[in-house]
Amino acid sequence: MNSKPVRHILLLSGGKDSTALAIYMRDHHPELVMEYVFCDTHKELPETYEYLIRIESYLGRPITKLAAEEGDRGFDHFLTLYRGYLPSPQMRWCTRQLKIEPFEKYVGDDPVYLYVGIRADEHREGFISTKPNITPLYPFKEAGINKEDVFRILQDSGVDLPEYYEWRTRSGCYFCFFQRKIEWVGLMETHPDKFEEAKAYEKPEEGYTWVQGESLDELSRPERAQEIREQDAKRKAQVAAKRKPRTLVEMFSGEVAEEDDGGACLICHL
Ligand code: SF4
Repeated sequence: MNSKPVRHILLLSGGKDSTALAIYMRDHHPELVMEYVFCDTHKELPETYEYLIRIESYLGRPITKLAAEEGDRGFDHFLTLYRGYLPSPQMRWCTRQLKIEPFEKYVGDDPVYLYVGIRADEHREGFISTKPNITPLYPFKEAGINKEDVFRILQDSGVDLPEYYEWRTRSGCYFCFFQRKIEWVGLMETHPDKFEEAKAYEKPEEGYTWVQGESLDELSRPERAQEIREQDAKRKAQVAAKRKPRTLVEMFSGEVAEEDDGGACLICHL
């Protein structure tokens, strides 16, 4: 660390864990002058923008929105640079260009404590940036806070869950390739305009699709969408049948909240 004062930064993704951490830190460490930051791809769900307003209102502080660059250098600009090659779990240029780089630029060389909302019941790694001046801290891990505690924090604060939780479990861009097929169906039903916009990015004839091996055009056909709904209902029923009595998580989220992160990006999906 250099001699400059240490900045305290909490990166919000629009998801439940980073939101709960912001609430927790405000309530448990009011002495910290926390900077709340959101990396805006301009391709987020409308519910995410609404949620950020709700969070700001609880925190009583503004959330700084960082974008890739001023002007038009957003997702579409980088997509052109990458010759139309859609990002994928194997090639996540979107995360680097639209989330990590704007964040690292914002931080500069200042010494920073970065508060990361990985819970005590998770086993994933927690590096968002490997810059040496950024030191990650994991308050939930240290305090033993698990998923159920997170739901309780959100409920008690009145901030609750983002509205998209009714049909999707992760924050991030409306076209995020980490979505499950049932979540694509949810996007089609909830935001048909966004679904069409996602579809317009695909070039199936060149193999550029958001979902591996299936275009959104194919996925949206009534019989295919129905098949996906039925498969998901079956999966949920199987998980529920194995379950113990209902937990706060299930009562609060209204669903069996299975959340395999599938290697998803920490900066987008906390
Ligand atoms: S939410 Fe998904 S699509 Fe958006 S930047 Fe993150 S990984 Fe990429």
